[in-house]
Amino acid sequence: MSASPAAALLAAAALAVRAAGCTAAPATAAPSLPRLDAQTSLLVVAPHPDDETLCCAGVIQRVARAGGRASVVWITSGDASELDLLLIEKSLFVKPEEARALAATRMREAREASARLGVPAAGQLFLGYPDRGVLRLLTDHRATPYTSGSTGAAAVPYRAALFPGHPYTGESLERDFAAVLERVQPTLILAPSPRDSHPDHRAAGLLTIAVSTRRGGLPGVRYWIVHGGEGWPSPRGLLPGVPLTAAPRSRGLALAVFALEPAEEDHMLEALRAYDTQMRTLAPFLLAFVRSTELFASLPGAELAPQ
Ligand SMILES: [Zn+2]
Repeated sequence: MSASPAAALLAAAALAVRAAGCTAAPATAAPSLPRLDAQTSLLVVAPHPDDETLCCAGVIQRVARAGGRASVVWITSGDASELDLLLIEKSLFVKPEEARALAATRMREAREASARLGVPAAGQLFLGYPDRGVLRLLTDHRATPYTSGSTGAAAVPYRAALFPGHPYTGESLERDFAAVLERVQPTLILAPSPRDSHPDHRAAGLLTIAVSTRRGGLPGVRYWIVHGGEGWPSPRGLLPGVPLTAAPRSRGLALAVFALEPAEEDHMLEALRAYDTQMRTLAPFLLAFVRSTELFASLPGAELAPQ
């Protein structure tokens, strides 16, 4: 990634936030999530399969239980996870069909995990864009297709995706994401913070801001972090009943605290266990999110996002 297009994208996102009436300065009062009830249409924006459970398992369950609609859009299908491929295929030189097979497995896991949280099949939406390539689409490959280094694909290769065959370009991704917003009509979007250290996460946050602003609405967006910096979340491993601490990367942002009931924590753990491929390689990190609270910022903090 060259620095200048990313910087331009971040500047555009900051402008979009201001245009939508949000201030770029850190908030001081602790915000809260909007009321969750039968009128709620929740959309969780997940860069990879498992992110929706890590960030938002409690809110998803609460919306489903209140009679609202819960949907998840997975931007990628996790087809470039080096650790997975190394462990499963015992080689770093993985054939494109093996990377695609891993994605198919991860999509099955995502369906199972999200169903355990209360997301119906109609709310399980896969876009199939390239793992580790999303930021490149939004910067260097807006109109020229990007080719995934792991699958060899330059267009969505998954029949289970919403739009198979759509090219790997930023323009196509934005159109597909807008189609998801049109379908879901969300009243609340939970998106990755542009401050997350994973480039796919940052890009998914910026994508959410850009497309939802264009449609005339940012007020219903809240932001979460999974790759929060400095060894967060700490300590690693399963500690049920313990609250999640604020990520170092969310410093300066006021965070809404969403408290999970013990049964919701249990269901979160059950959902996470559906991710066999991820639990085999990353269990201590993943289990560290099974805590008694989830944290959401009402500001993206894009002005401090890493380059
Ligand atoms: Zn992720």
